[in-house]
Amino acid sequence: MARAIVIGAGLAGLKAALELRAAGLDVVVLEARARVGGRAFSFRDPADGTLLDNGQHVILGCCTEFLKLAHEVGVPDAVALPPALAVPVYKDGERSMLASLPAAGPLHLAAGMLRYRHLSLRGRLTALKAAARLARGGPAGPCTFADWLKGQGHTADDIAALWNLLTVSVFNADAAELDAQAAIRGFRFGFEGGPSKAALGLMRRPLGDVAEAARRRLEAAGVPVHLRARVESLAFAQGRVCGVRLADGHTLASEVVVAAVPPAHLSRLVRTLPQSADLVADLDQFGVNPILNVYLWYSRPVMSDVALAAVKSPLQFVFNRGELVGGPPGLIALSLSAAREWVGIDKGMILRRLLPELEHILPYAASARIERARLVWQSDATVVLTPNAARRRAFPATAWPGLTLAGDWTATDWPCSMESAIISGTRAARAALA
Ligand SMILES: Cc1cc2nc3c(=O)[nH]c(=O)nc-3n(C[C@H](O)[C@H](O)[C@H](O)COP(=O)(O)OP(=O)(O)OC[C@H]3O[C@@H](n4cnc5c(N)ncnc54)[C@H](O)[C@@H]3O)c2cc1C
Repeated sequence: MARAIVIGAGLAGLKAALELRAAGLDVVVLEARARVGGRAFSFRDPADGTLLDNGQHVILGCCTEFLKLAHEVGVPDAVALPPALAVPVYKDGERSMLASLPAAGPLHLAAGMLRYRHLSLRGRLTALKAAARLARGGPAGPCTFADWLKGQGHTADDIAALWNLLTVSVFNADAAELDAQAAIRGFRFGFEGGPSKAALGLMRRPLGDVAEAARRRLEAAGVPVHLRARVESLAFAQGRVCGVRLADGHTLASEVVVAAVPPAHLSRLVRTLPQSADLVADLDQFGVNPILNVYLWYSRPVMSDVALAAVKSPLQFVFNRGELVGGPPGLIALSLSAAREWVGIDKGMILRRLLPELEHILPYAASARIERARLVWQSDATVVLTPNAARRRAFPATAWPGLTLAGDWTATDWPCSMESAIISGTRAARAALA
């Protein structure tokens, strides 16, 4: 039986391993950390054992591969998916719904946008025009999404009141740094399929359950998932990648290697391969944005919605964690994406900036006691798809026979996300089998 080695037990690597095993290969997964899940994991809070996620993850109804994987590995209840998009958004204390209305194709959001009061009437009409352009295609040459929106007639105010909320939450990037084509392709997945595809899916289980369930499924199928098994380099002989060398000095031979690791890690793995300079130069161009999650334990429930958003505010998304995943009823999570502006600021100052905003939109929070606050930083949360980086996303097949690539950052057309990771895993496995 041919052997396949998968490097990395994030969602991309786990999915690639499942596919390769299903095709009959003898598969081994090697993961550097002491757990599976990569950038999508849960952990116990050291103070009281509450299960927290490294970041509150959401999906949209269009993330069908994520939903399929959750189903296949036995956690179909991981996500609650409403029939359509309906998110309360606050601006200056005023609430308006960002929602789709019952209509086919992109019309569901176009109609919903007309009711979104945080945009001026002119802004809403421009948004409609931009949504129609979005459906037809984007700019001819590389530019940022903010520049493209300005070209459609949007003001900086419109971008802050709508589009930036979407780009930071979906792409972990400000519209001013995000590639326009990447944004347009990404938004199309949600806009074009009707209301159910744009629905906001919220985790009902700890995030780490999905990867853990995939690991159990693999092990039940005879695939060992070795933890604390860092791959140091790739073995290359007779014109092909033929195995790996581990940090502990062991080598492992294989017919196929799938590297399912982020660009900075891949850069270290491939640099000893012949003619790797171009790929290494590309990989070194990818930058990352941090995400900060702030968990607040209130003495009692302070939110009636399960999730809400805020624009023109330091807050972005607020999740009712106690209601969604269980645990302390007053637990909420603030998710701050593209969080570079918060780096280096101490916890006290961060809370002093966020809490007055929160109390403005959640009046119960003002009268409840905060028992504890925990900041969870993820400094390399996702690659930023700038106009430069977006053109360098790698394809699964490489110049070296025996090596294929997976990972959320590869050329899936999706935002760097769990959906992209899972799609990339399938494609890398298929490329390896081909
Ligand atoms: C805070 C936060 C919030 C997010 N929010 C969302 C969201 O709301 N929705 C969404 O869809 N996505 C979200 N994401 C992104 C999502 O988590 C990632 O896109 C996805 O998990 C990436 O999976 P991956 O398998 O491609 O990479 P990773 O998860 O990074 O997996 C790569 C694995 O490879 C391992 N590895 C690296 N080098 C080696 C080596 N040399 N040897 C062995 N193993 C190695 C790593 O330890 C890691 O486990 C968020 C991410 C973060 C951090």
